[in-house]
Formats: sequence, structure tokens, C-alpha cells
Amino acid sequence: MMIARTLEELRAAREALGPVGFVPTMGALHAGHISLVNAAKADGLPVAASIFVNPTQFGPSEDFSRYPRDEQGDLDKLEAAGCDLVWLPSVDVMYPPKAATSIHVGGPALKWEGASRPGHFSGVATVVAKLFGQVRPAAAYFGEKDWQQVQVVSRMVEDLELPLRIVPVPIAREASGLALSSRNAYLSAPEHKAAPALYAALVHAAGDILAGKEVAATLQNARHALAKAGMVPDYVALVHANTLEPLAGFARPARLIAAAKLGAVRLLDNVPVG
Ligand code: AMP
Repeated sequence: MMIARTLEELRAAREALGPVGFVPTMGALHAGHISLVNAAKADGLPVAASIFVNPTQFGPSEDFSRYPRDEQGDLDKLEAAGCDLVWLPSVDVMYPPKAATSIHVGGPALKWEGASRPGHFSGVATVVAKLFGQVRPAAAYFGEKDWQQVQVVSRMVEDLELPLRIVPVPIAREASGLALSSRNAYLSAPEHKAAPALYAALVHAAGDILAGKEVAATLQNARHALAKAGMVPDYVALVHANTLEPLAGFARPARLIAAAKLGAVRLLDNVPVG
């Protein structure tokens, strides 16, 4: 497995590999990240992963400085998964002082995570566009765990006519149903026990909506279920799966999306409907 820390090292490694599948990450890798590597390998491409905790997608009161970091553990996991190249830029390599360009995203970026975390998707879009320019992948693999992020990145790639495919990969979950996340490391033992209620509430709501129950009442029930499990819901919404616009009634393609605070941890999850 090749490791590149400078743009020169990355260029040399990329020349050696030819077309690659690309898996961008912020590290603290778990089986969800590795499922993205496996999806790229299944497409028959050499795999490049990146690890970069991107400061510009964190708000001022968020967890950038304490975000879990484990470079050696991550490299071991990527090597075991058969990854071919790891791109490990520093903040200075990614954002030289003369940099003056960022990407503004509207449409699917405006609501939900975009509203709760001002500037987040501009930070994501800018770093993802830079990573695509640096790595020049044939395809890039994104987890459906961050459903809105996949839609924002897909829109950006289409709008800017970037020459790569975006491949969404299903959510890897614990047996309890809890979606794997690097931030699950922040959960206390009792919180970890309560956290699967988020997925359970979404699955229940999806079943109710498909059974013809009223959407507003179903979403309200889901919020109550989260509160009962000790969470503070941020949003629970039925949305158009690609535009992220709210749906007053069921129409395909639909996705149920939710974010809720459990103690200090913000949990995110989503399920298909129909
Ligand atoms: P992160 O390191 O949290 O920025 O995530 C890097 C990539 O892994 C993103 O495309 C995430 O959506 C994806 N990812 C994170 N958790 C999961 C999961 N449980 N299942 C599938 N993909 C995931």
C-alpha cells in the first residue's frame, strides 16, 4: 500500500496506478468505511482512500479539535482491506495561504444538515472537489449514512460536469441497527444502548407511511419515540430522495431522514421508503 503525504508523492503514486476508485474519509475508520473500499474493489478498480479531518466543514462550536484520530490504526485497516493508496494531506497542503476559492452549494444542501450546520456543505463540497482534482478518480464511493451529503456531491459533480461517477454505498449497521459512525466513540455505555432507537423509529415510520398513515402524524410519533429514548430530535422528515425537499404525502423516490442529539452526540440516520 502506497502512502502519499505531499502532492508530489500523490502524483507519482497516481501514475503508477491508472484509473482508481476513491474513498474519501476523515479517518477513525470502522466497518462502514471499509465497505466503501470493498465496493470500489468489487468494481475492479485499484482503490485510493484519503484521510483528512477537514476543518472547514466543522462549525465553531463543533468537535474538530477532539474528532477521533488514529492514523496507524486506520492505515492497518486500509492495508488489510486491500487498499492500494492512502492520501494523507496536512491542513497546510490542502489549504495553502493563497487559496481563495470555495464552492457554494444550493438545492439539496439548503435544508436539514445544511440549516443546522451553516457552512458545512460548502466546506464538504470544496474539500471533495479539491480531493477529486488531486486524486482524479474514475469513481468515488460515498456512504448513504450521510444521505444528504451524497445528494449534494452528486449535484455538484453533475453541475460542474466533473469527469467521475459517484457511487452510493448502503449503510453499515451494528446488529442493534445503530448506524456505524466514528462519533459513536463518544457515546457512554447507556447512550450506546439507547442509540438504536433512532433507526427503530425510522423503520417504524417508513412502515406506517407505506401502510398509508398520515405523514405529519407519523413524523410526530417518530419524534415522540426519540424523546422517549432520551434523545432531542433535531429533525425527522420525509423528503424527496434527491432534492431533499420535504414531502407532505408519500411519493417516490422518498427517504426518511433524521438527526437527534443523544447527550453530547449528534446521531444521523436515514431509511428508504418503498
Ligand atoms: P467520514 O469519515 O465520517 O467523513 O465518512 C467517510 C465516508 O464513509 C462517507 O462517505 C460516509 O458516508 C461513509 N460512512 C460513514 N459511516 C458509514 C456507515 N455506517 N455505512 C456506510 N458508509 C459510511
